[in-house]
Amino acid sequence: EAYCRYFGRPYDEMLANSFIPMIPEEDQANVLARLAMCNADQPMMTHEHRVIRADGAVRWMQWTNQAILDEHHTLIELQSVGRDITEQRHAEKVLQDSEEHYRRIVQTAQEGIWLIDADNCITFTNARIAEMLGDASAVMLGKSLFEFMDEEWHAIVAANLERCRAGIAGQSDCRLNRKDGGDLWVLCSTNPVMDGEGRYTGTLVMVADITTHKKMEESLRRLSTQDTLTGLFNRRHFFKLAHQEFERSQRYDRPLALLMLDIDHFKQINDTHGHLAGDEVLRTVAGIMRDTLRRVDLLARYGGEEFVMLLPETTLLTAMNIADRLCAALAAEPIPTEQGAVRLTASIGVAAVTDYGDQTLTQLLGWADQAMYQAKQAGRNQVQSRAAAD
Ligand code: GH3
Ligand code: MG
Ligand code: MG
Repeated sequence: EAYCRYFGRPYDEMLANSFIPMIPEEDQANVLARLAMCNADQPMMTHEHRVIRADGAVRWMQWTNQAILDEHHTLIELQSVGRDITEQRHAEKVLQDSEEHYRRIVQTAQEGIWLIDADNCITFTNARIAEMLGDASAVMLGKSLFEFMDEEWHAIVAANLERCRAGIAGQSDCRLNRKDGGDLWVLCSTNPVMDGEGRYTGTLVMVADITTHKKMEESLRRLSTQDTLTGLFNRRHFFKLAHQEFERSQRYDRPLALLMLDIDHFKQINDTHGHLAGDEVLRTVAGIMRDTLRRVDLLARYGGEEFVMLLPETTLLTAMNIADRLCAALAAEPIPTEQGAVRLTASIGVAAVTDYGDQTLTQLLGWADQAMYQAKQAGRNQVQSRAAAD
């Protein structure tokens, strides 16, 4: 009677007819095959399928079937007890859909996503992170998060993970290693994952690619400090660093020298070989100066074809020697350009601090400039000096 009510059919009809038409046509073959399996070998069996009620409603049922056998183990009949599992099925479907939904979000996210356990080992990764690292086949599961970055970043990331243990989310820039050896700059967001009892079980690491942004930052920084033609410091940046160096030398009362270099008859070089060749010459001259100086020396393009050099820990005498060497090096070899080799010379003025009591960087620059002018007056291709005391 319960089944009659459930299916909405009268008792006589239920009893006299096959059960099969109450199953959607496309499922019937499956159900028959399942039922055929219930025999002496497997007398008890459950299966699930859809049924159609008299009002047309489709429901899910789970059946437990028991084979009733005679003494020769021949099947006499099946006793089946069914229950409606439509709601349960529905809940499972909703869960499955929602899991699918989140899986899709995670797999299509622009961010790389890592899940790490309490030992910082990767337990989940999405495809995007492998793409970012330029290695689609990268094996990440089970590896330590730290394997993907250089040691210099370990402390920063470790500190973030430590905060996660205390339940605090964090964020920091970090550089990961791409498979091709390139840099992958990322913004790493770390979010603690706690279990039901509030215990730390790991961290969700969201990884956003900020490489372009970092490169832009770097090129802006370069643009603001560098001269684009020669790659040397520009005048503005030179003053900033030179003031710091002057103060340091003053504080410790250390020798400090300054060179001012101007290429001789550069207008002629431009006129004869063209402005582009002139540019090439400027780049080469910058390279020669860089090679002649030490790393601690400050070298900058001061004006068009005028360069300035600040030499820490250098006396006037040593600076004169360096200037002589530079002057000789520039005059020695013609500089190759696309328009042919160009011969050139330069005039250099040298000045050095003699007393920090009443001397400033501006004065030092003035003296070097005057010395350079003297070198021009005296016939060019030479070094002249002017000690502050002169
Ligand atoms: P002097 O021996 O007296 O120094 O003669 P000079 O011809 O070098 O005279 P000056 O220093 O006054 O002239 C500098 C010339 O350098 C003028 C300018 O056209 C040229 N110049 C300045 N900046 C650049 C540059 O970026 N590229 C090129 N090709 N030429 C430049
Ligand atoms: Mg010149
Ligand atoms: Mg000049």
